[in-house]
Amino acid sequence: MGIFGGTFDPIHYGHLRTAFELIELLRLPEMRFMPAGNPPHRERTVASNALRLAMVEAATAGQPGFVVDGREIAKTGPSYSVETLAELRAEHPRRPLCLIIGMDAFLGLPNWHRWRDLFGLAHLVVAHRPGWRAPTMGPLGELLVDRGTGRVSDLHESPCGRIYIHAVTQLEISSTEVRSLIAAGRDPRFLMPDGVRRIILETGCYARKDETRG
Ligand code: ATP
Repeated sequence: MGIFGGTFDPIHYGHLRTAFELIELLRLPEMRFMPAGNPPHRERTVASNALRLAMVEAATAGQPGFVVDGREIAKTGPSYSVETLAELRAEHPRRPLCLIIGMDAFLGLPNWHRWRDLFGLAHLVVAHRPGWRAPTMGPLGELLVDRGTGRVSDLHESPCGRIYIHAVTQLEISSTEVRSLIAAGRDPRFLMPDGVRRIILETGCYARKDETRG
């Protein structure tokens, strides 16, 4: 299964297209969307946990293989990927698990909590913009020599431990830009599924604060 984490504040077509391309390309039976929680010491999301979860559910409803997993959002403390993956591994002892991350996140991997333990739990799938180059030197360069693969079948033949890098269509949409567009009173139509847009418009969750306060 693929695991696609993010703050999803809000989810948009950039996320959904990436998830869709990877589920097809990697022939994954399932792509789990895992909205991040709101730990006490991190910058808070703009929309509440409940609304972010509802938007991810609306965005993925009816799409075969797309599943929402609310475990991180339900936690009050920090959620480290390595801990979430350990939980998933306990639930699925033999299944290949593919953690999807962007190239920017991959470049910061050595700063992650217990990052080397990730490879005993899951594969890493790095989705990058066309034109990006993978590191060839330093700890990540070495990691790629040891664990990198260009073969999808390698991700199915073992439950964890490989790194697969793939270019995905990059739609220039970001949650930050979507929020500012809405706060400026513009319509987010065609940047996200209608169900997500409806939740945003009905709840006013990204409306400019001074306007909502009246
Ligand atoms: P923000 O603008 O607040 O940083 P975001 O749009 O990047 O938000 P996140 O929820 O932080 O959204 O992203 C979750 C994952 O989706 C990350 O791995 C990120 O790299 C990836 N992602 C975000 N936007 C796109 C996009 N337009 N195309 C492909 N992948 C994306």
